[in-house]
Amino acid sequence: MKKIENLIIELSKCYDGEKGSLDFTTPFELLVAVMLSAQCTDARVNIVTKDLFKVANTPEAFAKIDTKKLEKLVSSISFYKNKSKHIKECAQQIIEKYNGEVPNSMEELITLSGVGRKTANVVLLEAFDNCQGIAVDTHALRLSHRFGLSKEEDPSKVEQDLLKKIPKKYWRLMNHLLVYHGRAICTAKNPKCDECTVRKYCKEKETGQ
Ligand code: SF4
Repeated sequence: MKKIENLIIELSKCYDGEKGSLDFTTPFELLVAVMLSAQCTDARVNIVTKDLFKVANTPEAFAKIDTKKLEKLVSSISFYKNKSKHIKECAQQIIEKYNGEVPNSMEELITLSGVGRKTANVVLLEAFDNCQGIAVDTHALRLSHRFGLSKEEDPSKVEQDLLKKIPKKYWRLMNHLLVYHGRAICTAKNPKCDECTVRKYCKEKETGQ
């Protein structure tokens, strides 16, 4: 346990682990941004949502918006057609089941179209200050393997390993630290191991494979 705490303390010296990097002003805006961010960079999503949220930023507006118009607004984002479909369905479900308000619980969020544990974890943490777990995206998955925190491939199983091994008081930080280190240093290809300040905790120091 001490080793993991030291790893988290070292990482938190390098990054601001208190906040995420998606721009939003309401829980629903964040939900849309997180849905758009799957397999896309947060920087790209922030560029797109800056204009998108001027056109629509409520469940009512997304439920009504013409599908082709929405697809055009988000067309620079990967899998934009599928994401547009999920966002419209999700908006409609929020209106019908939750009176137009994004629900503040894991159980309710994961009933929404296109919303899994990863998206729900981010929304609960960032919009409601309600940390229920650790969102496992591509960075968190890769770094969990490299730090020897999990051998699983399924993100929900990786999350369960992380939650068992990491004290709850660090869950919030780890939501952000794994992503920031994965983006800046521990990239999928050619990780910058020479610049890595947590190299001694890594199981794959030299190859990064
Ligand atoms: S030593 Fe390399 S592979 Fe290991 S955590 Fe650091 S950057 Fe990633």
